[in-house]
Amino acid sequence: MQTSCLIDGTFVPARSGRTFVVHNPATDAVIAHVADGDASDARAAIDAAARAFPAWKNAAAIERAKPLRRLAELMLRDVERLTDLCSQECGKPLAEARVEVAYAASFLEWYAEEGKRVYGETIPASDPGKRLLVLRQPSGVAAAITPWNFPIAMVTRKMGPALAAGCTQVVKPAEQTPLSALAIAELSIEAGFPAGVFNVITGLDAPAITDTFFDGLTVRHVSFTGSTEVGRILLAKSAANVVRVSLELGGHAPFIVFNDADLDKAVVGAMASKFRNAGQTCVCANRFLVQRGVHDEFVKRLTIAVAALKVGDGRAPGTQVGPLVDDAGIRKAEAHVADALAHGAQVTTGGARVTVPGGTNRFMAPTVLSGVTPTMLCFREETFGPIAPVCAFDTESDALAIANGTPYGLAAYLFTADGARIMRMVEALQYGIVGVNDALPATAQAPFGGVKHSGLGREGGHHGIEEYLDLKYVSWRIS
Ligand code: NAP
Repeated sequence: MQTSCLIDGTFVPARSGRTFVVHNPATDAVIAHVADGDASDARAAIDAAARAFPAWKNAAAIERAKPLRRLAELMLRDVERLTDLCSQECGKPLAEARVEVAYAASFLEWYAEEGKRVYGETIPASDPGKRLLVLRQPSGVAAAITPWNFPIAMVTRKMGPALAAGCTQVVKPAEQTPLSALAIAELSIEAGFPAGVFNVITGLDAPAITDTFFDGLTVRHVSFTGSTEVGRILLAKSAANVVRVSLELGGHAPFIVFNDADLDKAVVGAMASKFRNAGQTCVCANRFLVQRGVHDEFVKRLTIAVAALKVGDGRAPGTQVGPLVDDAGIRKAEAHVADALAHGAQVTTGGARVTVPGGTNRFMAPTVLSGVTPTMLCFREETFGPIAPVCAFDTESDALAIANGTPYGLAAYLFTADGARIMRMVEALQYGIVGVNDALPATAQAPFGGVKHSGLGREGGHHGIEEYLDLKYVSWRIS
């Protein structure tokens, strides 16, 4: 298991010699002691990335594609090892971690191809003596700050487009889950990336490490996935050197079920969206809005399905819901349940912590709350836990008003059989992603990202690579 930072093609301990402990949130078992890098390590990584940039930028896209595709293959070769590591670090069930590895590899594979399609343009000039061209060039060193909830996929979703575009990169993973990023780093060497093209700095002092991304002109792009609170801090810091930032921030997804929806499909979708990773995904349904005619039946069916979920250590056979990642996470989930109950909601299943033999006290019973109103905490804030609050609504415009009545705008879900309503709702929902009768919209070839407080920029698809490219307009007088 790799525990050192990757700088300039070599794994090195932190210059300070310090390490920090990574725990399994299910058991508190120590997984590893990892290099506690600081600003000086980050600067060394940025310098290495800057040295590697000219050659990497000038390599043909077809050559840059080779190690990217090879890395995807190596990740799939090592899928079981990566799956186990991911599950240990962040607590998610093995089946989900396995899906994450494949999802993560898909970004490398897809961008290996997309890098070959970074085309320029010619523009017809008004002056016949001129030729007008637009070049799209890699912007320079890119930095990435990733969260713990998808410790593998959030690295490759940034690495794929950055490296395919011709940028070099420094990644700072979350302190709870540095080992997954280091495992990718180790495979990146085997995949054949030149030294300095991809670097990983692990460490506890995120502000100090990431300040180095903004304190000069070398890093030209910072991609962040995490909370809105930290996203705002980074956006403010980016102003000093006018560094471009992409922000994938918090969500507060409405999951809207109309009377004419296929309820079986809506419940299956609700389960997949809400309880994946114990509800700790930015696009997971956070608020269920169900039209009055099917409300009671939806709650009944959802309650039966949720009550059957198996809670446990993510690495134990059959586990469907693992622990929350830390104590703050479970306290927040409990607070949302307590607030809802205090204001008149009812628990139809779950509602409290679950004891798992040999486990920590971070396991929350998958919960359904009915009788929820939009003023309750769980309808105002992202819960990031396995709580499904259900609110009844009467009309399409009521649903829309509740759905849009939030500063967040990442993902929204819609279950209905009415085509005209689908189009009206899709156009009116203030969200970056809308799943129509589909609870799992994320895929490498489509643009992922939010509006309002959910972020800036997009990851995935041909849109994702644009974040790493600068346009250069050339006006060429030829006569
Ligand atoms: P977080 O606290 O914002 O942490 C995310 C990353 O930022 C970690 O690497 C963290 O490092 C670093 N960080 C923390 N404070 C920082 C600071 N002051 N300056 C610079 N970096 C800092 O988020 P989280 O609690 O781990 O993740 C959950 C949030 O992420 C949720 O709101 C969720 O919705 C959002 N999320 C969004 C997406 C999306 O695509 N939109 C995807 C996944 C998650 P340390 O770990 O070392 O503190």
